[in-house]
Amino acid sequence: MTFADAMARYAPVLGLETHVELGTASKMFCGCSTKFGAPPNTHVCPTCLGLPGSLPVTNETAIRFTVMIGLALQCEIAPWCRFARKNYFYPDMPKDFQISQYDEPLCTDGHLDVVVAGEAFRVEIERVHLEEDTGKTLHVGGATGRIHGATHSLVDYNRAGIPLVEIVTKPVAGTGAAAPEVARAYVTELRELLRTLGVSDVRMEQGSLRCDVNTSLMPVGATAYGTRTETKNVNSLRSVERAVRSEIERQAGLLDAGRRIVQETRHWHEDSGTTSAGRSKEQAEDYRYFPEPDLVPLAPTREWVEQLRAGLPELPAARRRRLADELGASAAELAAMGNAGVLGLVADTAAAGAPAAEARNFWLGYLLQKANEAGLDDPAELAITPAQVARVIVLVAAGILTATLARQVIDGVLAGEGDPDDVVATRGLQAVSDTDELGAAVDAAIDGQPAVAAKVRAGKVAAAGALVGAVMKATNGQANAAVVRQLILERLDGGG
Ligand SMILES: [Zn+2]
Repeated sequence: MTFADAMARYAPVLGLETHVELGTASKMFCGCSTKFGAPPNTHVCPTCLGLPGSLPVTNETAIRFTVMIGLALQCEIAPWCRFARKNYFYPDMPKDFQISQYDEPLCTDGHLDVVVAGEAFRVEIERVHLEEDTGKTLHVGGATGRIHGATHSLVDYNRAGIPLVEIVTKPVAGTGAAAPEVARAYVTELRELLRTLGVSDVRMEQGSLRCDVNTSLMPVGATAYGTRTETKNVNSLRSVERAVRSEIERQAGLLDAGRRIVQETRHWHEDSGTTSAGRSKEQAEDYRYFPEPDLVPLAPTREWVEQLRAGLPELPAARRRRLADELGASAAELAAMGNAGVLGLVADTAAAGAPAAEARNFWLGYLLQKANEAGLDDPAELAITPAQVARVIVLVAAGILTATLARQVIDGVLAGEGDPDDVVATRGLQAVSDTDELGAAVDAAIDGQPAVAAKVRAGKVAAAGALVGAVMKATNGQANAAVVRQLILERLDGGG
């Protein structure tokens, strides 16, 4: 079943549950460090190990961060709510229950807007609640790293008790074939928002941002949602898009064959780009929630909430609108820069003295290509600053560099050879604009392509491009193309 076939007959409905590890210094209910990468079971204490007699104390920073997230997502902030115990047995949860929030989440009813291919989609947020993370289990001895086939398992409680925010969307319907891109755009925008708020390092590869994607299909025109599956722990933006696409194709194939969708969790396989069956969710699990008796309720005052609202930084959507104004960019240009993650870089390059259009061309063109070649998710990690890019652009405008030479200068800066002017000097990358020096190459190009020269003589000025190209090639890109073109037209002006 191809994606296009699936979309001809079915309408997808998405749901996204995102877990975010907050960037607090200490854990949610104890003073243990949250630092990533420590030796196993070194960041633990009686509270996060669930030893008898220990009592939790709420981390105020975690509450503040959660309220900030809620406000940035336009949510209502509960004036009073409680933590709840979620009871289930799993070895990575030392207490055999998780302190979470159940029917009294801290934040409710918000939204986040995303744009895909020029079309705006509003993703409604159902709730944002706070809980504690579990430990990490490592299954040893098997081929797959899963429990099946393992000889034994190890558990690391360093992560147990790290404050975790869960952001749950309402069902996202009406996206049609854009569903995979909408899912990706939502997680991208959410990650940008959280990074701007400074509440998490949002590293998907380290698990500080984890995404579960619910997908269901209904026949086109229907209103009742189909049975959904939940693809767990999709750990990159690209995988979010691929997982939705793959699950839509799989479900459509089953429905077309007259089979039913089993309500279950699915494991995502990065290598094959497919999902496989996990835990069945046909029977609702009974977590026996009840209010956590060891903690006082949360009651954020209106004054405090308003103070946090007033202190929010400029959010990504507002920043994009401001930069679009400053850069004079169209909606399509804005989307291209936003999707490539270069909007801020283009703005900084323009602020450093380059024309906005040139800054955009460099970042969306050669620099983005360099970032891709280096396997960088974020072009900002390239070893070149916006000020250096602006200097290259100024050198091109001054006729000192040609487009080809500009790329070589960028290569030099990326290779650590210093500022653009240093690279120009040490590599000898000056454009040749001297008409005497270029004359011989121009004559050779005209002699080499008499048919083209005749066309230019007959008034087809556009044909001169082939001759300019020949000169550029002959001079290894060091000739000033504008000067070359001028020389060619002067020499062939006879027939005009
Ligand atoms: Zn602890």
